[in-house]
Amino acid sequence: MDATHHPWHALEPGEVETHLAADTRHGLSESEAARRLERDGPNALPRSKPRSAVLRFLDQLKAPLVVILLISALVTIILGGLADASVILGVVFLNALIGFVQEGKAVRELTALNASVVTSATVIRDGSAHRVSSASLVQGDLVQLEAGDRVPADVRIIRSRDLLADEAPLTGESTAVEKHTRSVAPNAPLAERTCMLYASTTITYGSGVGLVVATSSATEIGQISRLMQNTDVLATPLTKMIARFSTALLWGIVSLAVITFGVGLLRGLPVYDMVLASVALAVGAIPEGLPAAVTIILAIGVSRLAQRKAIIRQLPAVETLGSTTVICSDKTGTLTQNQMTVTDVVTDAGRYTVSGSGFDPQGSIEGIPTGGAASVDQSLVWLVRAGALCGMADVQQGEHRWEAVGDPTEAALVVLAMKAGARRAELLERYPQVDVIPFSSDSRYMATLHQDGDARFIAVKGSVENVVGMCDAAMDASGASVPFDSDRFLSAMGDLSARGRRVLAVAVKREGVNATELSAEAVSGGCTFCGLAAMIDPPRPEVREAIAECRAAGIRVKMVTGDHIATARAIARDLGMADEHGVLQAYSGADLDEMSADAFTEAVRTGAVFARVSPEQKLRLVTSLQEHDRAVVAMTGDGVNDAPALRRADIGVAMGISGTDVAKDAADMVLTDDNFVTIVNAVREGRVVFSNLLKFIVWSLPTNIGEGLVIVAAIALGLDLPVAPVQLLWVNMITAVILGMPLAFEAGRTDVMLMRPRDPSAPLLRNVYIVRTFAVGAMLLMGVFSVFSLELQNSGSLSVARTAAANCLVLMEAFYLFNCRQLSLHRKSEPTGTNPYLWVGIAITLGLQGMFVYAPFMQDIFHTAPVSALSWLITAGFGVVLAILVEIEKRV
Ligand code: ADP
Ligand code: MG
Repeated sequence: MDATHHPWHALEPGEVETHLAADTRHGLSESEAARRLERDGPNALPRSKPRSAVLRFLDQLKAPLVVILLISALVTIILGGLADASVILGVVFLNALIGFVQEGKAVRELTALNASVVTSATVIRDGSAHRVSSASLVQGDLVQLEAGDRVPADVRIIRSRDLLADEAPLTGESTAVEKHTRSVAPNAPLAERTCMLYASTTITYGSGVGLVVATSSATEIGQISRLMQNTDVLATPLTKMIARFSTALLWGIVSLAVITFGVGLLRGLPVYDMVLASVALAVGAIPEGLPAAVTIILAIGVSRLAQRKAIIRQLPAVETLGSTTVICSDKTGTLTQNQMTVTDVVTDAGRYTVSGSGFDPQGSIEGIPTGGAASVDQSLVWLVRAGALCGMADVQQGEHRWEAVGDPTEAALVVLAMKAGARRAELLERYPQVDVIPFSSDSRYMATLHQDGDARFIAVKGSVENVVGMCDAAMDASGASVPFDSDRFLSAMGDLSARGRRVLAVAVKREGVNATELSAEAVSGGCTFCGLAAMIDPPRPEVREAIAECRAAGIRVKMVTGDHIATARAIARDLGMADEHGVLQAYSGADLDEMSADAFTEAVRTGAVFARVSPEQKLRLVTSLQEHDRAVVAMTGDGVNDAPALRRADIGVAMGISGTDVAKDAADMVLTDDNFVTIVNAVREGRVVFSNLLKFIVWSLPTNIGEGLVIVAAIALGLDLPVAPVQLLWVNMITAVILGMPLAFEAGRTDVMLMRPRDPSAPLLRNVYIVRTFAVGAMLLMGVFSVFSLELQNSGSLSVARTAAANCLVLMEAFYLFNCRQLSLHRKSEPTGTNPYLWVGIAITLGLQGMFVYAPFMQDIFHTAPVSALSWLITAGFGVVLAILVEIEKRV
């Protein structure tokens, strides 16, 4: 069957069903779906082809510093040093290769992690809904889509409710398009096929059901070249800073080379030697391995975060995480367990307490109507019935305990019904559902329409404020309508909320319900209030500690929730979010709307709780924190409308379990466990990654400075170069790529979360570190010259002396490595544990350095000669002295 040649948009739903041999009620059977999957292959959304390997490799050669190396090689060839030139070219090649392989790995890893985030769809097969991987969808599958979903394949809509889709990825049109089931003209352009949903677009509002008409490369998006982008941007603020630094360095080296050249000429040194010295200067002072090393360290951070349940979608996030100053977090499910259990019910006639815990249906509803009536309180019966009917969730007995399937708030109401002896499935059989207005965080209510024999009724549940507004009567114990005393319920809600309960109101509309479709209009008035259901949602036990950790780390935590202010405040207090004086500022969305601009800024700065907040207010919140407070904001979100706030935040955090595809797409980081603690862990990991980067830079720069100084000094003093250019290249490469890399695996000091967040606008290196870097560079200079002249005297051989000098650079760097495990000393920090990789790196380096000195082929390439054991001892001695001096410097 060829999907592409049917004008699906011009066919009626029934015709589509026939053509596809599909079933718009029960979906395909599993066996038929398996057969079609075999026939058509998996529904893998086509990705843009990664740029060709050759191009990516050539990219590595475009760096300004590489250009210098290439020029150096050219000059060396002209001077007849073909062998030396090949070493230089070899290093350029090796370096490009390392960069190429590492970046390729980083891109693949990010892409794979990203792909693992957004790839499931809800399909109806054999009459029931399943969550499956989008890749397993086949032509003819019946799929359910709702606001926030990414459309997994091309779909002909069969049923829809207020459906809006964002088709920008396909048509470039940025306003959402209304979708419905009516067929359109065969020649309608893509943008006007309003009965179709296309792969890679997203649902921004409403819900719908449709038949898959095309998968993978047969989809519209698969046929045009605008494909899903791979994540291949590896530039971060730091790598950009290093790039700028490299350019500055380039000019520095060029001018130094010119000066050296001039000075040499004035001193009457041969031109040949001068050129060679300039080449040596260039290759020595360039940190060849630095860019690759930085990418490797960041990439290691990404995989470490993934192990800790935080999926990074953009590489720069690893760096930004470490400087987070404010975390704005959802309450429900992130700070709390989302294990909703109804504990109290309030109706017109009575107050009831409910026993039991979690989603386990063991338990009962206790209490009698205040009127003392012997019969059952009908308002309680209706509250329980409507509460269980008005939802999509259910509960099931899991392996260890009862679990919610779907929204936990709704599952709690299903459990309440079970405690009263009614199962949702039975209720639905007796009162079939005719239509739904799904819950949205904007409207804060949900409504369902049910058939009751020949009559119909509407069940509504939602926030108390909203539902109260829909009601003009309450139900009494006999089920009759009585005047509605909303104040009594509002004050009951106040008491329950203050105890941290999430309170929902339930209402029904039984009169005048004729239409077979629900509308917001129909529930806006004329409903009868059944009562309140209050549920407990215990805080996650580990969050309290994480919040205390944030406080110590100078990070402010703000709760941003759609729930009631009193509930939010009680939970915030329970979690230890009040300040040292016990003050806890809380604001509701309505409060915020009434404030002047200044008051808003101040409220946002000092407030800890923001309740009944809309997505637009979330966006304003982030913006205000960034603009007026210079905050680096991590903000969580899960709904479609949270996307702008997630994009605006420095670190947009989406929920892996409860979040929508749209939110995940907009986020920089996705939590696979929806847990607040994971955010804090990620911040800690971000700080560790950044401090390891800093350690690496502070450790590696002195090598280049020292080598540059050595050459300049040699020229200025009219001496032989103590180290040959090719030897400098060797030293730079093995130190950066092998000796220093283990710093990436440093565990981080115990006090990383006791320090203030890093100011992203502060210079990378504090003055102490700059001074230290130059001091260590100067010590390398002294070490190299001392060893060189000593060996030249002892052996009389230039090769031996140079070999010893190169050894000296490597050994001093090896000892300095231990200094760099902790850049500065802190009172509170305990010694960091051992880092076995450090020893592995040193062992390999020493092995290679041994070959460099003793292996004949290496001697040919690098002009080295065997040195004595004593020489090694002396060079090691310089290393020890260096390490001791740096430790002394740290302490003063
Ligand atoms: P949050 O996730 O921050 O707690 P929500 O936006 O999910 O906030 O919920 C806001 C309010 O909407 C809740 O306080 C509750 O009154 C109501 N509500 C939540 N979930 C549902 C639902 N499934 N159906 C009806 N009303 C709901
Ligand atoms: Mg919620």
